[in-house]
Amino acid sequence: MRVRDLTISYGGEPVLEAVNLTVEEGRFVSLVGPSGSGKSSLLRAVIGLQQPLSGTVETNLARSELGLLFQDDALLPWKTARDNVALGLTFNGTERKQALAEAEAWLARLGLAGFGDRFPRHLSGGQRKRVALAQVLAMKPRLILMDEPFASLDAIVRARVVKDVVALVERERISVLLVTHDLEEALSLSDEVYLLSQGPRAHIIEQYNVPIPRPRDPVQSRMHPAFSPLYERLWADLSREVDHRAEAA
Ligand code: ADP
Ligand code: MG
Repeated sequence: MRVRDLTISYGGEPVLEAVNLTVEEGRFVSLVGPSGSGKSSLLRAVIGLQQPLSGTVETNLARSELGLLFQDDALLPWKTARDNVALGLTFNGTERKQALAEAEAWLARLGLAGFGDRFPRHLSGGQRKRVALAQVLAMKPRLILMDEPFASLDAIVRARVVKDVVALVERERISVLLVTHDLEEALSLSDEVYLLSQGPRAHIIEQYNVPIPRPRDPVQSRMHPAFSPLYERLWADLSREVDHRAEAA
């Protein structure tokens, strides 16, 4: 998936300007930047919900090969966890019995065996996130677009869910574009990190390759010798940009 010279405006000064970003097959790519820099806007453009002022999004993927994971899950409250996961499958023509069996298998893979009959309101935040993830994975996406998907989870639950996400996308060789303001999360999970400047007219300041081998444990990744120097570079690059903006203002 390739974003070329993307400029997005909501009427006034552009939010993003001339942004270029590539997600190669099987790569875990993060886009980090300050709040309000246009990260969510970029994702909306990628899924076609936001018409850019200029620039293009090129992909050889069908819409059905894209998975979406956002901060607020989109579970239907009146359907059980199993039915929520099966929904997309039946919608795509999978026979109901088969869909329910696949849904159950995905729930089990995500540590939710036995929770299929529960309604979303009877699940914890971490469990709901896993159901939402099962829902996405069941559709066998080739690329998952994530917008701060773990932000609402507390630290321990978040670490566990993140670990499962990494293991599954590595195993299934799924490409990921993760949008987050969390530099550490981005570095610990990604093969590549793009740093977006503060908006308006936010642009890519720098692209970093993260040479931490896979399979990865997201917590252990932070102790890899490559981690700290990269984090310091990212932080310095971002701070310089923010200071520069403050002086100009
Ligand atoms: P991020 O996800 O990086 O926090 P967003 O893409 O949500 O940033 O927003 C970038 C900027 O665009 C913000 O200043 C925000 O207020 C503005 N914005 C976002 N969506 C809209 C919209 N639908 N209409 C007008 N302005 C918007
Ligand atoms: Mg956002």
